[in-house]
Amino acid sequence: MTEPNKQLSQTNASTHLDALIVGAGFAGLYMLHKLREQGLTARIYEAGSGPGGTWFWNRYPGARVDIESMQYSYQFSEELQQEWEWSERYAPQAELLDYINHVVERFDLARDIQFNTRIDSALFDEANNLWQVSASNGDKLSAKYCIMATGCLSAANKPDIPGLSSFTGPVYHTGEWPHEAVDFTGKRVGIIGTGSSAIQAIPIIAEQADHLTVFQRTPNFSVPAHNKALDPNYITDIKQNYTALRDRGKQGFTAFDTQSNEKAATEMTAEEIKAELNKRWQMGGLNFYGGFADFMVNQETNDMIADFVREKIAQKVSNPETAKLLSPKTVFACKRLCADTGYFETYNRDNVTLVDISKAGISTITPEGLKVGDDAYTFNCLVFATGFDAMTGSLNKIDIRGIDGKTLKDKWAAGPRTYLGLCSAGFPNLFTISGPGSPSVFTNMITSIEQHVEYISDIITYLDEHKLSTINATEEAEDAWVNHVNEVADGTLLNSCSSWYLGANIPGKERVFMPYIGGFPPYVEKCEEVAERGYEGFTLA
Ligand code: NAP
Repeated sequence: MTEPNKQLSQTNASTHLDALIVGAGFAGLYMLHKLREQGLTARIYEAGSGPGGTWFWNRYPGARVDIESMQYSYQFSEELQQEWEWSERYAPQAELLDYINHVVERFDLARDIQFNTRIDSALFDEANNLWQVSASNGDKLSAKYCIMATGCLSAANKPDIPGLSSFTGPVYHTGEWPHEAVDFTGKRVGIIGTGSSAIQAIPIIAEQADHLTVFQRTPNFSVPAHNKALDPNYITDIKQNYTALRDRGKQGFTAFDTQSNEKAATEMTAEEIKAELNKRWQMGGLNFYGGFADFMVNQETNDMIADFVREKIAQKVSNPETAKLLSPKTVFACKRLCADTGYFETYNRDNVTLVDISKAGISTITPEGLKVGDDAYTFNCLVFATGFDAMTGSLNKIDIRGIDGKTLKDKWAAGPRTYLGLCSAGFPNLFTISGPGSPSVFTNMITSIEQHVEYISDIITYLDEHKLSTINATEEAEDAWVNHVNEVADGTLLNSCSSWYLGANIPGKERVFMPYIGGFPPYVEKCEEVAERGYEGFTLA
């Protein structure tokens, strides 16, 4: 057993807050705004030099959202959603960052954000029911509530490949892209990975570079994004009835409107299925999820969709061997579905080479490139598009200790354990926004974030009104929720491949399906039931 947090008695907490928030992405910013509205003192600590979270760090060429901009935005403020103008169907990273900066300015948030500062530790002081927090700039704080808005995909996965430090050219990671423009003109570039980030970056890097070599371990399903400039009349139409679109979104499994065909493929004729597939391909993007209600649970339906996409890949890629290599063999959408602009067509270019590393693997990085088995490849710049230590990576970087000094990292060693993805038993008054065990990455993140922020805010109001100091999930409620999360995932086809949903992309990480895949509406219903029953499953003290 770990020692209680004895060092707390020596801590000289110089600042007291009602709430400390970690992270200035969409989640942290709205949490700050909400708590301030409640009259609480709150402050965000943020490692970056500016706000934006994901959209602050992921500046790689081609980075843009894969949910339509008119839906991938806050809905808590009618004025905000009326005044902001999106220029494209899928906003590029720079525009998303402009939007976030606008939100910061509009709600005067910056005065309560400490940038360039990491939270190193958060220790629960049982005697005073306070979180004692240390930051990388030396700040010591005490806070009644500690709210982790650290993001689901924010700890970059940097594979430890032998020889990396010997590489003589620049090395980039898509999730930590430099702020100054990177120009690949005239360069030979190597890129490792073919997930969503790579699928967006590859077509653009290929246009700039002298030569691009793509090192692929597993091919991914991708559908065309059909990105385009937004027609002002379309924007006006939506704005005149924004609430209806938002309501349709919240009623959808993914918390955004996919114009879902409510039917399972088993309820449709062959002609209807064909028409639906073609319709979804034309619609583009993640609307593909709305095609067939049973695609995640019915192998035949899933195979049929997978075959359809594989045929499309074969039509797009001129070299049949390359097309075969680019065709995923996994369950459709087992890894997160990608939305692309000219990705597969990029392999028809003379200056692009695809290297299969699924069998031999990268043996070493050399000063001028890398080796796959004994085959050497040379380039001047290396891009890691190798993703993230998802959902738990950023939390594990912070020394979080709850009751009896137990660390969250130890508690989660065999996979994250939460009640509703919001709280973990033994860590009173600590909240995770879109934490593991919540729908988070299966949904429109902003809608899920808003639901969590408002739920946390309601909990805090309830505690204040009832003169209570702490809320702590019970072990029983947590066990039941974790079992439910696992059962739902087991009932789908999605835990059949080595995805980051399962933590399978990180060597040594326990394979546990982390997000809740029961859908946004049932999740919200469960949260509401819990609240109506006086926060059933929590101990309030
Ligand atoms: P990712 O989907 O995890 O893809 C990482 C890629 O790197 C995979 O192809 C993976 O191969 C490969 N890889 C990882 N470690 C490797 C190693 N040691 N050796 C060789 N290859 C290795 O990461 P991502 O592309 O950054 O995307 C992560 C998530 O972020 C997405 O799923 C999505 O949710 C989100 N995202 C969204 C957008 C968007 O909104 N448009 C854009 C980018 C990212 P394996 O598959 O074999 O592991």
